[in-house]
Amino acid sequence: MRHRRESVPARPLCDRAHAARLEVVNDFDVLVLGSGPGGQRAAIAAAKLGRRAAVVDRRSMIGGVCINTGTIPSKTLREAVLYLTGLSQRELYGQSYRVKEDITVADLGLRTQHVIGREVDVIRSQLARNRVTMLPGHGRFLEPHVVGVSDGGERELKVTADKIVIATGTRPARPDTVEFDDQTVIDSDGIIHLERIPETMVVVGAGVIGIEYASMFAALGTKVTVVERRDRMLEFADLEIVEALKYHLRDLAVTFRFRETVASVERYARGAMTVLQSGKRIPADTVMYSAGRQGMTDDLGLEAAGLAADHRGRIKVDADYRTEVPHIYAVGDVIGFPSLAATSMEQGRLAAHHACGEPVAEIHELQPIGIYTIPEISFVGRTEDELTEAKVPFEVGVSRYRELARGQIIGDSYGMLKLLVSPEDRRLLGVHVFGTGATELVHIGQTVMGCGGTVDYLVNAVFNYPTLAESYKVAALDAMNKMRHLARLSE
Ligand SMILES: Cc1cc2nc3c(=O)[nH]c(=O)nc-3n(C[C@H](O)[C@H](O)[C@H](O)COP(=O)(O)OP(=O)(O)OC[C@H]3O[C@@H](n4cnc5c(N)ncnc54)[C@H](O)[C@@H]3O)c2cc1C
Repeated sequence: MRHRRESVPARPLCDRAHAARLEVVNDFDVLVLGSGPGGQRAAIAAAKLGRRAAVVDRRSMIGGVCINTGTIPSKTLREAVLYLTGLSQRELYGQSYRVKEDITVADLGLRTQHVIGREVDVIRSQLARNRVTMLPGHGRFLEPHVVGVSDGGERELKVTADKIVIATGTRPARPDTVEFDDQTVIDSDGIIHLERIPETMVVVGAGVIGIEYASMFAALGTKVTVVERRDRMLEFADLEIVEALKYHLRDLAVTFRFRETVASVERYARGAMTVLQSGKRIPADTVMYSAGRQGMTDDLGLEAAGLAADHRGRIKVDADYRTEVPHIYAVGDVIGFPSLAATSMEQGRLAAHHACGEPVAEIHELQPIGIYTIPEISFVGRTEDELTEAKVPFEVGVSRYRELARGQIIGDSYGMLKLLVSPEDRRLLGVHVFGTGATELVHIGQTVMGCGGTVDYLVNAVFNYPTLAESYKVAALDAMNKMRHLARLSE
């Protein structure tokens, strides 16, 4: 099915009847702005449904923030840090164990650039294989169905489309009061351009990105101070696990300054001074701001499409990712929470299906969260705090990696897995993992929960030995024993 747009030019009345019968075939069925995870998946899904699809993005940004400045560089950097510092092996080989003594930015950059290059190739080839047209440049609305694409030159290519998907993502928010110079005072985009590993660093903002980088630099030996306005961090995660993370980070010489606000950042030739409203002054080689993100909508010509963004540049959508203008969709970070690559991909796919008139399910409510700190955290479902608040009874089953043979083999003595189980119907209400492989392990729990399974499945299942996955069985038995004890008491 090909969608057609009626074009009714402003002509004298006598011409109108004729003009109304004219139909204009747009250049594309689905045009996507932005080639990050949301945009890619939207374009490929539309192409797989037989539609003419195109993606607009700058040549240097194929793959989006995800591949070029966000997820992939940060996760590759983390892997390089873990390998080169030998941190995860120190339990076995002693605290002085290192793979490389003097780790340089070049050592870290090597792996990052290699992975980014490969990932960009994969994306280019996927788009080409699916016959998605790549339109290099910046896109902006000229009319609701017309987008101008400019690659920096004088000419602007006009492209028309039946359906348009906005997947333009976000950029780091920069407070007006702070002068960024991309070396001393940076945001998260500046990390990959650092010329040397700082000896001291202030991280402003203890959100996911801030804490991930704080832990990586701490592992490299940088003395990190985290300044956070709120009185705790990662408040959406399990409190016990966040406490465990804080303990680990303090052990790596991270200092936390909670309930503190930055008053100013003074730049000097050899570093910067972060001045807090409480009067404290923190000197550091580098200050990294991680104070939220701003939707990339200011140069998008939204008004020409009949749309507007909120003060953080975000676009409002309905459950089908449709904006207030029905043929325009928005997906990914530009629509706000949860702003994750995995969610953005799924939103892109679902939006494309809806735009192409294909049957489409809602995004599954069970969405895992992965926090790639050192050590990593991952969870799915509800936290103890949320359940308590909602007056939902639960039992806790815990397994500690140090009690698992695999935990001993890999030298992870701190990892843990926690199951929250309903004593009423024995279903899993939440799964929380801390330590090696947390972001992979969580998916076992997610699958059991998504299929409506109970803790009995985990109790009776046989897991490979020795694995970390075994922690599910140990935690399930722990929860089961507690529930049995309770039942006995009330008999
Ligand atoms: C440091 C960091 C670490 C992260 N770590 C993780 C993680 O571990 N796991 C995870 O799931 N998520 C992580 N994220 C979040 C993840 O990167 C985002 O959720 C994801 O990239 C959002 O995808 P998106 O589809 O919205 O597009 P984005 O990846 O944001 O890309 C948007 C693209 O749109 C383009 N664009 C903008 N304006 C226009 C325009 N007018 N015309 C054409 N193109 C335009 C941009 O050039 C860009 O290429 C991290 C983010 C950061 C910053």
